[in-house]
Amino acid sequence: MDAPEIRKRLTQLAKNLWWTWNPDVANIFRDLDRELWRTSSHNPIVLLNELSDEQLVKAGGDESVASRINFAFHRLSEYLKPRTSYGLAHAGALWRQPVAYFCAEFGLHEALPIYSGGLGVLAGDHLKSASDLDVPLVAVGLFYSHGYFTQQIDGDGWQREAYGSSKVDTLAISPILDAAGEELIVQAPCGSGSINLRVWRLDVGRIKLFLLDSDIPSNDDDVRQLTRFLYGGGQGMRIRQEIILGIGGVRALRAMKIEPSVFHLNEGHCAFVPLEVTRERMRNHGESFHEAAAQVRKRTVFTTHTPVAAGHDRFSAELIGQSLGWLIHELGISFDELMGFGRVHPHNHGETFCMTVLALKMSRLRNGVSALHGEVSRRMWHALWPDREESEVPIGHITNGVHVQSWLAPSMLRLYARHMGKDWAQHMVHPDFWEKILQVDDTELWEEHQLLRYHLVDYIRRLAVRREVRLGNGKHPEELERLLNKDALTIGFSRRFATYKRATLVLSDRERLDRLLNNPQRPVQLVFAGKAHPKDEGGKGLIQEIYRLRQDPRFTDKLCFVENYDISVARHLVQGVDVWLNNPERPREACGTSGQKVLLNGGLNCSVPDGWWAEAADGRNGFSIGWGFEHADKEEQRKHDAAALYAVLEDEVVPTFYDRNAQGVPVEWVQHMRHAILTLAWRFNSDRMVRDYVEKMYLPAAGGVSCQVG
Ligand SMILES: *Cc1c(COP(=O)(O)O)cnc(C)c1O
Repeated sequence: MDAPEIRKRLTQLAKNLWWTWNPDVANIFRDLDRELWRTSSHNPIVLLNELSDEQLVKAGGDESVASRINFAFHRLSEYLKPRTSYGLAHAGALWRQPVAYFCAEFGLHEALPIYSGGLGVLAGDHLKSASDLDVPLVAVGLFYSHGYFTQQIDGDGWQREAYGSSKVDTLAISPILDAAGEELIVQAPCGSGSINLRVWRLDVGRIKLFLLDSDIPSNDDDVRQLTRFLYGGGQGMRIRQEIILGIGGVRALRAMKIEPSVFHLNEGHCAFVPLEVTRERMRNHGESFHEAAAQVRKRTVFTTHTPVAAGHDRFSAELIGQSLGWLIHELGISFDELMGFGRVHPHNHGETFCMTVLALKMSRLRNGVSALHGEVSRRMWHALWPDREESEVPIGHITNGVHVQSWLAPSMLRLYARHMGKDWAQHMVHPDFWEKILQVDDTELWEEHQLLRYHLVDYIRRLAVRREVRLGNGKHPEELERLLNKDALTIGFSRRFATYKRATLVLSDRERLDRLLNNPQRPVQLVFAGKAHPKDEGGKGLIQEIYRLRQDPRFTDKLCFVENYDISVARHLVQGVDVWLNNPERPREACGTSGQKVLLNGGLNCSVPDGWWAEAADGRNGFSIGWGFEHADKEEQRKHDAAALYAVLEDEVVPTFYDRNAQGVPVEWVQHMRHAILTLAWRFNSDRMVRDYVEKMYLPAAGGVSCQVG
């Protein structure tokens, strides 16, 4: 192939995020220029922009590379036109009119920083599974050109935030054009003005994700700022972002002539969607507000993600009045009536306008994201259905899952293909299928897992060297070779540094920690990562506590903190750890998905029975910290949980990990690994999750059959 042909094919591959969950294809890009691959955050478009024709031919011109490119190209073409699929067999009415999935963030890949954490990654995994299953779905979000921040930790252990800005020509997005071939612009009224929005399209396998962007010349400067930053700014910015997402989003779909059968509101940020659809129906069908709203409600489904009261978006009456006066006018209702949709008690003037309440009232089917979170949500919102028993509150649950191919180490993927067949991923949701894992030999499973830990330690050392260079500390690489031990029990903890997640619980008793980490026969090491919200001084303090503890020579090489937790760091960590630690204040973790990512990689969970773990643990597929103790006094709960955590580490985790047979294999540990895969893999993946959404939410909402999940 000559340079233009190589460039053309690679560009087509790069323009669909399908490559991100197909490591063979990602490796084609990586092999073009490994250094540029790393520094570009694994962005193939940067590679294609920067490499000259000669370089492309040099890297990609030989026959074996050409055949890899061709093979990938064919696989993508076949993937995009399946002859059989779950969706073709089961998605029925959705083929006439798709589902529209709205979310404020999407975590699809590290080179596309339009997510901050769990919610975004979940939404990204939802799209990837909807694509693999071939479910007719389009998605709507915001294009944050400056994204979420990049985290660096200074010499004193304090978090510093930097905001980059993505150059549009380095992303796999393209603008939607109108009939005249000009960039499509849609308008979202806000206050007395109007926000002009450009619409970008991003291809995620078979799924189209549309991203709204206010950063265009026809807007005033302050309006151009609106979509630049994710979760930045105050309430005024927040409500305008949500108007863009909800109202601008519906208008963008209409402008593209997409008529969804079902609107899925993923978290409350997008709860203005049903109001705009109601307004549209009133105008197009001449319906009254109440008729139109009733029709819209039938086709709207809502997923809540927040078990903490303070976590729900709330706006003052004043802000609602300023921003949505035009909508109130067009809906033909009073200001008080609109406020009532955001209040638990419509006539309570002391209540602010809550986006979750709006979404709950405007949807037909509602769900939390784990069994326990469903329960917590029914308790939390009981007042909205005062005539019902708490257990009859119409909020069910669909437990979150993760997109397996995105999180699985390539070597484990090959292991599953060897033992379970090449198309194992298509059978993933069937429990019986996993019995094949029982045939995998102890030594083989263990050796594969050991290699993954070695890779993780190498990765962390490389990052440490780069950090030292950046800080100008002049530590010798040899010194950094002592950081972590390739054969030691490695425990990972990484997630947002919100205080309720209690990152430093395991560090609370220094003497016990010393004994735990520094036992010469049974060493343990801890790897941390996570971002604190820029305004969360408490969370930043926890990060600093970890850095300060590393000054103590007992802990220097046993503890480490990996900077800038993002999808790439997460992928490395979940693939290489032996144990994934999770110790939030129960029941404040709605689901938690990072622990699900370690399962198929052979890691074991050690978790408080909160979120998904409360329904997953069976006593043999991982380790539980305490038995669901809850206490109103946080200090009491902390003391209790810390004691339970040390006990399970000392009495169960460490002894089992180091109990080896003559070949050095920890037989009982490997049994736990296998049992975790057998009992959990089929449930906690996003294929199962999306199928649940199709069957329990989308089809009933599209077809009018009423049923409630739970
Ligand atoms: C999976 C993931 C999360 C969510 O994990 P939790 O268990 O909910 O904390 C957050 N951030 C990143 C980068 C992830 O990959």
